[in-house]
Amino acid sequence: MKIQTPTNNDVANKTVLVRADYNVPLKKHGTGMVVADETRLRASLATLNFLRKNKAKVVIISHSGRPKGKPNPAYSLKPAAERLSHLLEDEVVFLPDCIGPEVEKAVAELKPGQVAVLENLRFHPEEKENDREFAKKLAKLADVYVNEAFSTAHRAHASVVGVPKYLPSFAGISFAKEVETFTTLMTSPKRPFVMVIGGAKISDKVAAVEHLTKIADAVLVGGGVANNFLKADGFEIAKSYIQDAPADLKKQGVDYVDVAEDLLNETKQERILIDGYIPLPKILYPTDVVAAKDMESRSGKVIELVNGERKAALEQNLMFLDIGPKTIRLFKEIILQAGTIFWNGPMGVFEKKAFSEGTEEVARAIAKSSATTILGGGDTIAAISAFHLNNRYDYVSAAGGAALSFLAGKPLVGVEALLKK
Ligand code: AMP
Repeated sequence: MKIQTPTNNDVANKTVLVRADYNVPLKKHGTGMVVADETRLRASLATLNFLRKNKAKVVIISHSGRPKGKPNPAYSLKPAAERLSHLLEDEVVFLPDCIGPEVEKAVAELKPGQVAVLENLRFHPEEKENDREFAKKLAKLADVYVNEAFSTAHRAHASVVGVPKYLPSFAGISFAKEVETFTTLMTSPKRPFVMVIGGAKISDKVAAVEHLTKIADAVLVGGGVANNFLKADGFEIAKSYIQDAPADLKKQGVDYVDVAEDLLNETKQERILIDGYIPLPKILYPTDVVAAKDMESRSGKVIELVNGERKAALEQNLMFLDIGPKTIRLFKEIILQAGTIFWNGPMGVFEKKAFSEGTEEVARAIAKSSATTILGGGDTIAAISAFHLNNRYDYVSAAGGAALSFLAGKPLVGVEALLKK
């Protein structure tokens, strides 16, 4: 999928409306609030600097939190605008609304190359309702539209799908990179393609896992998600965490252990060949785990998932909280032979020292591998940060839901809106 970014000619000396994602965590500072994590602000800098270099007037729109369609100072974009000014080392104008005559006047008065951040789009209910008049009012502010918020590309909101109907529209540099990276992953990954899946909540990623399992050569499953596969294969998982389907899906008969069982059945005939091992199943889940009474335990016990020990775990009422040493060794072997790696979700409760080894070892192996390495998910990012491994991977996606929808093979409305132009 080739998505278009603007050329110099498309934006030079024009007013450009940039849909960013400045929905950033805030923290208290003195009497006000400041940005606690500037990752999302940084993701927009390449596009903003490109526009400024071309003497465009840059008008940034974004949502922040869930203010339920009315102004609420707790969700103001002012702290984001202040932090952006610091990052750009330049003045950033902050406007207290995103539409209306006063905003239009202030935008018209911007100097070439100057940047303005408009107040939270979601202070107007029309944003989420994808109201046509609201989209037109936003479009009226500029000559060109650039979407630099891949993380909201799955939402049919006015600023995502409405505005591009009325302006020449392009993808921002980070947006295009994300689309390109994931498209290559799904259509022409360098093989072997190894997917590493973990974390606790299978609900968020189940569609992406189902889709990517068809494409990948090997699927390594750890974390709480592995419990679904262990259970599907008849193992006792004692008190281990297992996520139930949300109530509405449960009513429709959705059960994630069944999903795991279907995936195991569908791939039953497929094998992976790893040096020194007999041919292995395509989906690999732990052959040993680190278990303890609860997440607060200071240490865990390694349990080999063979018949006798299965029962022991059950009797002791233990939880599986990390992958064990044999599983780590096997996962590392496979990771080191990969051509492409996609990783989403920690291998265990990495926040606790006693259950962090699986995630750390896997994170280090992926960092060392010569494969194209692509990571996603808030907790995966938190894990690499905890192990000081940031910047050791080819691509780290912070797009959450949008990325998982895209990887499930579903067209994203925000991407479609740009392609139709
Ligand atoms: P997710 O948001 O689905 O990626 O889940 C991330 C969370 O999963 C982290 O906070 C981990 O502590 C947790 N987690 C990982 N492995 C396990 C496990 N075996 N049992 C319970 N929670 C886990």
